Amino acid sequence: MIDTRAIRYRGQDTPDGFLFELSGGALPLEFANTISERSKGGRERLPDYGALIRWTTQAGMLTEQQVAKLEAASSENPGEAGRAHQEAIDLRELIFESAKAAAGRSPLAERVVGRWNAWLERVQSSRRLAAGHQGLEWQDTSDFETLDSISLAVARASIELFVDGDKRARTRICAAADCDWVFLDNSRRMNRIWCDMTVCGNRAKATRHYRRKTGK
Ligand SMILES: [Zn+2]
Repeated sequence: MIDTRAIRYRGQDTPDGFLFELSGGALPLEFANTISERSKGGRERLPDYGALIRWTTQAGMLTEQQVAKLEAASSENPGEAGRAHQEAIDLRELIFESAKAAAGRSPLAERVVGRWNAWLERVQSSRRLAAGHQGLEWQDTSDFETLDSISLAVARASIELFVDGDKRARTRICAAADCDWVFLDNSRRMNRIWCDMTVCGNRAKATRHYRRKTGK
């Protein structure tokens, strides 16, 4: 089995499908990075529901059984799968907008907050309480049986990330001008500036070197 944590260079195409780079440090931010070069129209890595299942599997959220169930549900119901895919893409852009605001320490627009509240309602209604060892506990294990369950799980993780002051303060957008990948800076000195040293860090280093040599 391939260790997807070791995939760099913005992922790679293989005969078995795309391998995603998971370097965002938090699930919602990794989800936001399933598109590159947004400002130039974007290189979409989630073209359909099947790709969404593939990302979720590589992110370690789905068992083989759950994958099989979701694949069956999406081929039985292509219309619903299409809607669930579009909803996931809309959620991804909401995450990106919120991460960008967190990274820039800027306030969120009311419209954005409203959309998170709509997600919160759906997330809450999908949660159940169970009898734990010492009393009531949240029973959060999603069975991933419905086509919208991937988005619900990502939305829940996103809400937890964005309400956490420490994590919000560690949310960054890559320092490269034409890169909009986002990540959680888990470094002790909180000084990580590149989404990926092998891509944007090296490119910046090469540009500096070129400028030094040519004086441009
Ligand atoms: Zn970058």
